[in-house]
Amino acid sequence: MPSATMIRPGGTIGILGGGQLGRMMAMSAAQLGYRVIGYSPPGDNVAAEVCHDFFENGWGDKAALAAFASKCDVVTWEFENVPLSAVAAIPDNLLVPHPRALETAQDRLKEKRFVEGLGGKPAPYAPVDSESDLAAAVERIGAPGILKTARDGYDGKGQWRIASARDAESFRFPGKPCVYEGMVEFDAEFSVLLVRDADGEVRFWDSTANVHSGGMLETSTLPAGEAVEAQVQQAREIARQTAEALNYVGVLTLEFFATKSGPVFNEMAPRVHNSGHWTIEGAATSQFENHIRAVCGLPLGSTETRFANIEMRNIVGEDALTAYDILGEDTEAHLHLYGKAEAREGRKMGHVTRVSGSRS
Ligand code: AMP
Repeated sequence: MPSATMIRPGGTIGILGGGQLGRMMAMSAAQLGYRVIGYSPPGDNVAAEVCHDFFENGWGDKAALAAFASKCDVVTWEFENVPLSAVAAIPDNLLVPHPRALETAQDRLKEKRFVEGLGGKPAPYAPVDSESDLAAAVERIGAPGILKTARDGYDGKGQWRIASARDAESFRFPGKPCVYEGMVEFDAEFSVLLVRDADGEVRFWDSTANVHSGGMLETSTLPAGEAVEAQVQQAREIARQTAEALNYVGVLTLEFFATKSGPVFNEMAPRVHNSGHWTIEGAATSQFENHIRAVCGLPLGSTETRFANIEMRNIVGEDALTAYDILGEDTEAHLHLYGKAEAREGRKMGHVTRVSGSRS
């Protein structure tokens, strides 16, 4: 197990991907005395500003990937759609977690089957590769439902609501493998956020209630409420088994719907997650720090929640332009801006976390 070997102070962590998750991960790594080198194709790589060095090269550039890897003691990722061919250019013994987690999570069908095989319950679903498949799926599963691209979707992108069989008939198929899912009637949404180390120790953070808007996370709140609290234990068992089956090391996230018939698995992310941003101020150890600890073979930190009330709210699009107003309105607000160049509509620009009250 590579991460069983402790990476010494001053060691170098490689991060694949250059977004805000990498940026916050790199800040935690720096706090622990590590150096970070990032790798991502050219773009708005906001992690680069806080990295020791950053490779802006394509995923197909094998020579650049090898040069990057040669400078690293361990390589992890902040982006789950890193092509497997790019990951294959990095020596296996450097990669933590093992890339089998990426392989599973990059494909919605694969991840549903995987979690189903471990006893998890997804929404009714069917693979859809053509217009006639869609008609058959809608007939079998019913409508309303959601058609999702099997790969590369995020934040509600690559998703289409199908209101009725008629709607399905007039739908122009996107020409990529898709999955049709029945619409789940849920009382709440939540995620299980865990960290697992190389010895198999697993720790969970509390599950927040997550509210989405247009497929994108809007808020994560604690206390999460009864609907979530009643189902967290069952969901944790599925998440634990998933982590064990993948022999996973690092932070792993599984998203669920809390329904009248128990937790319904939505999707997994083999990485730190937006619904865990509250842990920076709200938990004894943040998801970012514990991911770094796990991949570097350090002891895990406590995941305990430190406050009675916590709310993390994403700052999206042009709201970022007035985000400093928050600092004047609430001197206890914790503002995080990711330094993205363009405040485009629907783009995650930052988040604000508010914590209050002591835990009894
Ligand atoms: P996803 O990208 O699959 O996580 O979907 C984003 C959001 O869309 C979810 O967090 C839900 O709010 C909503 N959603 C996705 N799939 C379903 C479903 N089968 N039933 C109801 N809501 C869904």
